[in-house]
Amino acid sequence: MDSRQILKSLTTKYRNNHKKSEQFFKKACRYQIRGGSHNLRLFSPFPFYVQECSGSKIKDIDGHTYIDFWQGHFANILGHNPQFVIKTLVEYFKKGQGLATGFPDPHQADLAELILTQLKTDKIRFTTSGTLASMYGVMLAKAFTNRKLVMKVGGGWHGAQPYLLKGISVYDQGFNRIESAGLPDEIEAMIIITRFNDKEDLEEKFRVFGDQIACLIIEPFLGAGGFIFADQGYLQKARELTSQYGSILIFDEVVSGFRFHPGGVQTLYGIQPDLTILGKAIGGGMPVSAVAGRQEIMALCSPNIKIKGKVKFEGGTFSAHPASMLAGATFLKYLIIHASEIYPRLGQMGDMLRTEIEKIFSHYGFNVKCTGYGLPIIKHSSCVGVQFLRREIGQVKYADQVWNPEITDIEMREKLFKLTMLEEGFNIFHGYGAVSGAHTEEEIQFSIDAVEKIAKKWNKLNIHQPIKSP
Ligand code: PLP
Repeated sequence: MDSRQILKSLTTKYRNNHKKSEQFFKKACRYQIRGGSHNLRLFSPFPFYVQECSGSKIKDIDGHTYIDFWQGHFANILGHNPQFVIKTLVEYFKKGQGLATGFPDPHQADLAELILTQLKTDKIRFTTSGTLASMYGVMLAKAFTNRKLVMKVGGGWHGAQPYLLKGISVYDQGFNRIESAGLPDEIEAMIIITRFNDKEDLEEKFRVFGDQIACLIIEPFLGAGGFIFADQGYLQKARELTSQYGSILIFDEVVSGFRFHPGGVQTLYGIQPDLTILGKAIGGGMPVSAVAGRQEIMALCSPNIKIKGKVKFEGGTFSAHPASMLAGATFLKYLIIHASEIYPRLGQMGDMLRTEIEKIFSHYGFNVKCTGYGLPIIKHSSCVGVQFLRREIGQVKYADQVWNPEITDIEMREKLFKLTMLEEGFNIFHGYGAVSGAHTEEEIQFSIDAVEKIAKKWNKLNIHQPIKSP
C-alpha cells in the first residue's frame, strides 16, 4: 500500500463517518464557493461541522469528539469558549448591551491600556482582522516615510491584503510569486522578498533597496510559514538596518502576541519595533485586531491631520465593537494575572510533544523534525510543527525548509498526517498546532500514543517520505 492508497482509504472512511457533515457541506456548496468563507477550513474531502466546542475538545454533528490543536486559528490560548469570558459576555448581554452602538465605550480604553502597558509603546487603534491591521500598518509606514517599497520575508503571512500577497506559501525556486490575481500590476515590483533568518540576504536587500524601503514587516515567530522563531541576532540586525535606512520596522505579532508570555514576543527579544500588528488572542475569541506603535506614526490617522499626509485608517462599522472590547480586555487581564501558571505549563506540554514526536518518528525510521522551539531566550513554547523532511537537516530554521516540496513532504504533513490524526481523534493543523491552557497532560500523552500508532503502522506499510540527496 502506498501513501496515495492510504489517503484514498482514509478519505472513504472519513466520508462514511461524516454523513451529516457531508449533507451540510453539499448545502453550503449550493450557496458558497466550496461551501465556505475561509479556504483553510475547507480541507478535503469536506470539513466536519461543529456542534459544540469546549476547552480542548470539539464535537462534530456526526457525534465524533476531537482533541483540538488548531484552537480557533491559534487564537484560543486557553481553549475553546473559556467560561470566564462567556460569563462576562452573558452578563453584559443580559444588561441589554454588547451589540454595535456606533459610540465609543469604556472597554475600548481598558483593552488599549492593557496592551500598551505590556508592549511599552505609545498608541493603539483597533480594527477587526489581522489582515486589515497589517494593511493599515503598511499604509502608515508608507505615508510616514513617503517611500514606495515594502519588504517582507518569504513564508510570511499577514493576511490577504494587496501590499503583502507575494512570497507566502508557494515555493517555486524561491518565494517570489504574487499569490493573488486582481492586484494592481505595479504591486509585484513594490514588494521585496527577503529570506527569513538570513542576515546576509537582509543586508544585501537593504544595500540595494534601503533608501526606497518604507517598511520591513516581519513575524518574530513565523506562524503559517512553519512555526519558526527569528534568531535574536537576525531580528537585531533587522532593527539596526531599518533604523539606519530610515525604514519602519513592523512586527506582525498576530500569532505571537500573548502566545509565549502576556505581551508581545518583542519584549522577550528586547527589540522594540516602530509598529506592532496584533490580532487573534487579543479579542478573547472575538474579532479584534490592532496596530500599536510610536505616537508620531500612529498620529497620521488622526482626524486632525491635513488631507495630504493623512492615512485613512478610519471607519470600520464594527471596529472596537463593544462586546469584542470587553471580551478582549477580560481575556488579556486573565492572561496577565495568571501568567506564571499558564505559560510555563503550555511550554512544558509543547516540549513534551516535540521531544516525543521526534523520538517516535526517528525510532520508526522517519526523518521528522519538529518546529516551534530553538530560541535560547524562549525556552519553552506551546507551538508544534511536524516536518516530514526529505533531507538531513539539524534544525529547521528557514521557511523554505517547510514549504519547498523538494525539502519537505508537504502532502504528508498537510493531508496524510492530518486525516490519520483525525481518525485517531485529534484535529491538527500545519503538522500539529498549538497546545492550549485547556489541554491536559493526559490528552497530550494520548496524542503522543496516537502518533506512535501511526508511525508504527506507516513503517509497517513502508510509507516513508523519500529522502532526496541535496
Ligand atoms: N498576520 C499573521 C501573522 C497571521 O497569522 C494572520 C492570520 O493567520 C494574519 C496576519 C491575518 O489575520 P486575520 O486572519 O485575522 O485577518
